[in-house]
Amino acid sequence: MRAARLQQWIFGLIVVTFNLTSPRDLSAESAEILRQLDSLMGHESVSSDYVRLRIQLLKAQTDAYNKLSRATPAADVTAPSCQPCFNARDVDLVIARTLLGRITTITRNHGRGANNLTPLCDAVDAQSNLLPQLVQEVVSAENNSVASAVAKQTGVNLQTLTFVTRVLTAPFATRAMRLSMQQDLPEPSDSGRCPSCGCEPGLSLLLREDGKRILACNLCACLWRFPRAQCPFCAKSDALNVFRFDESTPHGMAACDACLSYIKTVDTRLLPEDRAVFPLVETTAAMYLDMIAEHEGYAQASTYAALR
Ligand SMILES: [Zn+2]
Ligand SMILES: [Zn+2]
Repeated sequence: MRAARLQQWIFGLIVVTFNLTSPRDLSAESAEILRQLDSLMGHESVSSDYVRLRIQLLKAQTDAYNKLSRATPAADVTAPSCQPCFNARDVDLVIARTLLGRITTITRNHGRGANNLTPLCDAVDAQSNLLPQLVQEVVSAENNSVASAVAKQTGVNLQTLTFVTRVLTAPFATRAMRLSMQQDLPEPSDSGRCPSCGCEPGLSLLLREDGKRILACNLCACLWRFPRAQCPFCAKSDALNVFRFDESTPHGMAACDACLSYIKTVDTRLLPEDRAVFPLVETTAAMYLDMIAEHEGYAQASTYAALR
């Protein structure tokens, strides 16, 4: 049973042309993602300023991943039998702190001073266990009491703080996911939560070959199959509204009237066949849907933070 489910899960991954190997270096793949992100510049449905921000963040995240990857080669790691496979203990605090510094510079340049993360850096430097606590909160389904307290203490907007922590955590969650897939694939999840890191999905993809649905984790970009008519956030199967402007548009969203969550969807059958599909690019291209969803009273679980 488990083998059959894994086979189905892996098949889903292959169909959307993701690279399943665990490269030591993500630079080649990131170059393609950066190229696709860059091609979104100037589209009227996407803010070029936001695309620029995502490009800078992705470069910083990729550098952190590559550093981490060189520090912990796959051969040196015994992947635990795990679900979820990622834990705040996996975070290398030196690499994480360097990444936080880069994010601080990037957001300062893009926010024109509005997003000053320096007080957060100071708080992290003063309390050695603060960063692991923030990361742990990102991957647990519990409340955000640590983030709320830090937001209050530092004056950093809570939403910004949560997004920054997710961007910071993503390279480590991605590394854990790739190592676990290399040695012992995690069980697929029926719950709507990522089988590798336990986080919520950030994008729904309809497969090219059969229109079935897979979800992409918004932290580690792990993919898994999930029923098309079911809400991944509350599991109800009779409350989803599917929205799309017209039949030729690949991007749409599924909004749930039971829990008032929504998830953006990309129908990969409507994308060019020779194009590799990256959730980060698709969710950025469809950012206009976030405004529509919020206007209609739906809320996003969390902003997409994964590297691909
Ligand atoms: Zn994940
Ligand atoms: Zn729901």
